Amino acid sequence: MDIYLDANATTPVLPQARAAALAAMAETFGNPSSIHGSGLRARELIDRVRASARRVLQAPTGQMLFISGATEGIHTAVLSALAHLRARREAGDKAPTLLLYGATEHKAVPAALKHWNQLFALGLELLAIPVGRDGRHDLAWLTEHAPRASLVCTMAANNETGVISDLEGIATALAHSPALWLVDSVQALGKLPLRLAERPIDYAPFSGHKLYAPKGIGLLYVREGAPFTPLLTGGGQESALRAGTENMAGIAALGAVLDALEDDHTFHPTATLHQHRQRLSHSLQEAFPGIVFNAPPDICLPTTLNVSVPGVSSQTLQQLFDAAGVRVSGGSACGAAQAQPSYVLEAMGLPAWQASGAIRLSFGAADRSELVEQACARIRACGASMRATGSVDDLELTAAQVLALRHHAPEALLVDVREGHEQRDSVDSPLEPGWACQSAPFSRLPEHLPRWLELPADVPVVFFCQSGKRGAQAARALRQQGHAQAFSLRPAARPPAVAAAPATPPRAPGDHPHGGPRG
Ligand code: PLP
Repeated sequence: MDIYLDANATTPVLPQARAAALAAMAETFGNPSSIHGSGLRARELIDRVRASARRVLQAPTGQMLFISGATEGIHTAVLSALAHLRARREAGDKAPTLLLYGATEHKAVPAALKHWNQLFALGLELLAIPVGRDGRHDLAWLTEHAPRASLVCTMAANNETGVISDLEGIATALAHSPALWLVDSVQALGKLPLRLAERPIDYAPFSGHKLYAPKGIGLLYVREGAPFTPLLTGGGQESALRAGTENMAGIAALGAVLDALEDDHTFHPTATLHQHRQRLSHSLQEAFPGIVFNAPPDICLPTTLNVSVPGVSSQTLQQLFDAAGVRVSGGSACGAAQAQPSYVLEAMGLPAWQASGAIRLSFGAADRSELVEQACARIRACGASMRATGSVDDLELTAAQVLALRHHAPEALLVDVREGHEQRDSVDSPLEPGWACQSAPFSRLPEHLPRWLELPADVPVVFFCQSGKRGAQAARALRQQGHAQAFSLRPAARPPAVAAAPATPPRAPGDHPHGGPRG
């Protein structure tokens, strides 16, 4: 059985949503614009679903439009804001010239800004709002730039990390700004109370398929009085704000999901989701000692985990999970085909290895506890299989990786394999004060190996030497003997303390006199 942990990419369709879609196709199939009985029944269904969307999203006022999904909603919102700006300019008004978007936004946002800015030849300046290490917007930066902004786009929660934006803080930063505010609410649907009408949010797009409705149906909230220009014109549907015959099956299915959100039986309360995530986190920590969580859990959606494992690439992790029938992704689904570092994690200032080695586990708010239990068991099995096969990609770790490893596995051993005459007097780690490192000269490695083999399988051992070559050989030897968690410190990252070996060190076993491969 597949264990699907990629809910931020998309979700299966709830049984009651499937049933509602089938019923809409079989029974409520009329065109809601028709004035006969079949049409009226379809119209009644649309009105009912729109009313529940308003309740669930706490948006009693403003427009709540049925659209195809968030990408359409983002484009409609950006088009509306920029068409308004163009009209102001044409009327001789000096409109502000900045378009601001969060550095970790889904690509649809900067792409839409660029597209409409170019198409309208507005020449506005696009600026990414920086985020901090925690993934949240830099509010001081935003406060400074907001007075010159015409549109500000920030997401409610990030699809890769689950980081929840500080919407109150953003609203305060925008308090004296003339900017319209777009909040991409895709990942918040059903997971966060959005209180749309209470906040000065002008546009909020949603995709049904992120919360158990089918693909091809979504919502766009538009605040009362916010500028609006239709993306699609035609038959006057949706009060002429979004033309095209309505996707009745999608609307019916979305209606069933919204009903489920209101009836409290299908979706778990937040506390249960936190427990699920906690269980998954523990199994990941057990399976992959040294694993690093790339975003602070206390400000993340309870359904998302983004992690990196020192020495293991994102691709290897995904393959390992896939082989065990656990479906996870390497960051966002849209970027899954390209083995690029995550721009989201890069924007957060995470080290390159974390940004390029990340995987995302995201489960659904309706996933049963048994599924989470099974996922944990399989994750532990993945860790065991990796230890058994020693299928860790990178033998070498950078200083940043070693420190991260140490942070999450404080029992990690650091071993200096330089010969006695090369070693400094101090037995402290060259990476972190107070981290005692063992001395095991490379020439006496065979004496030491049995000792490390007695260590629990999940204790990482990191070797270092001057060139990195002997460290790598020692790590390889230990892995061959059966301890998979063996690494060497990459020489390029070697800190000055270690680099400060004698000017012409005597040749040690394994060191090439004229360069050669650096281990
Ligand atoms: N915004 C966010 C935060 C998303 O996660 C996604 C989808 O991954 C989108 C926008 C685009 O949604 P869709 O592809 O359903 O239009």
